[in-house]
Amino acid sequence: MPLSSRRHFVGLAAAGVTASALGSRLRAAPFASRDALADTYSQLDTAAALPVLDVSALREPLLIESIEFLQQGETYLVRVRTKNGATGVAVGNERDMSYLVPVAKQLMVPALLGKDAREWENLIETVYLHSSNYKRQGLLFWLPFAAIEFAVLDLLSRTAGVSVSTLLGGKPGGTVDLYHAHEDRHRSAAESVDRMLAARDRYKTRAAKFKVGGRMRGNADVVPGRTEALIPLVRERFGDRFTLYGDSNGSFDFARGLEVGRLLDRHGIAIYEEPVPHDLYDETKRIADALTVPLAGGEQESSHNRFRWMIAHRALDVVQPDLFYFGGLVRSIRVARMAHAAGLKCDTHISGTGLGFLYMLHFVACIPNAGAFQEYKSFDGKIPLDTPAQTHTPVDGRLRCPTGPGFGIELDPKWLAAAKIV
Ligand SMILES: [Mg+2]
Repeated sequence: MPLSSRRHFVGLAAAGVTASALGSRLRAAPFASRDALADTYSQLDTAAALPVLDVSALREPLLIESIEFLQQGETYLVRVRTKNGATGVAVGNERDMSYLVPVAKQLMVPALLGKDAREWENLIETVYLHSSNYKRQGLLFWLPFAAIEFAVLDLLSRTAGVSVSTLLGGKPGGTVDLYHAHEDRHRSAAESVDRMLAARDRYKTRAAKFKVGGRMRGNADVVPGRTEALIPLVRERFGDRFTLYGDSNGSFDFARGLEVGRLLDRHGIAIYEEPVPHDLYDETKRIADALTVPLAGGEQESSHNRFRWMIAHRALDVVQPDLFYFGGLVRSIRVARMAHAAGLKCDTHISGTGLGFLYMLHFVACIPNAGAFQEYKSFDGKIPLDTPAQTHTPVDGRLRCPTGPGFGIELDPKWLAAAKIV
């Protein structure tokens, strides 16, 4: 059975269930025959198990000698060194690293010291099992892990003299079309659209994302009536040719999520993100089944197996792993590959500060099923780096993935030298 057919692709029709039998079969086997589902999972697992890293150019062992956490102002960095003197440095997530460095030091670093960095793909599982870390899985676990991974990937790719994208089986140098994301729930519909239009004109983007609902507030808008006013207004002011995404951030219950989804459908919105709280998996799937607008989600997800479930049951049309929250590029590429096997798109969710845009560019360079537009918030310039200008400042609504060794940036050596060890 092809994985790319529309909803219910592991559904009742494929299992040969007739309409008259639906009543009893629905309760007993809500997702159709076990054989069909097992076949779907088998195809997803095959996709996820394919090697991600190509370390064939690295002939000598790269034994990890130290993993240090550095702080420079509000920026947290990780520096990895090997016994033979190779070094990798990466910028971590800004908002959450301050209180997670002790977690990384106690639960992750001991599992990695003395290991060969070329084995990174297997070391992910080593860290996950170390000291029963699997009991601790969540955003707060994978977030500092991602920072360690980016430093290890920097080390491996610089040692090989290639881009991280090349190391991960991708191709750097391409451009990525951006959508600008707006966080304007406390503003009126009219003011929100004015700000969206200003960002469109500033970055020359061809897509944008607006927020609906009140963000996890049980159906209530922050500004009463904003959701109903905004959706038709944003379409009217942007015209029919502009791509628009709507993001609820889990604002609604099932009934309200469906109601808003129908409004988005009527106005040709291209993606509807997280209609209900992200871990209401069944409700998410039922809303996806009922609407035409593709459903997106996954930014809060920390579990590979929950992504696997959502893809197998087509609870989402677009998966959106956050490269930090989900624990780095390798795990996110595995999710993208599962989604691809099922004919689904994969977009990036990125954090608003630091170098999220840079990691996004490399991620897109490494996956076959990135959506038409990727999220862009801004580059605030707080981190001094040398890289081609179009890597951090959009030109015609696009950023370009840098081609240089590592992540294609050079951090200011003086700035880095002044960082203190945490
Ligand atoms: Mg979102």
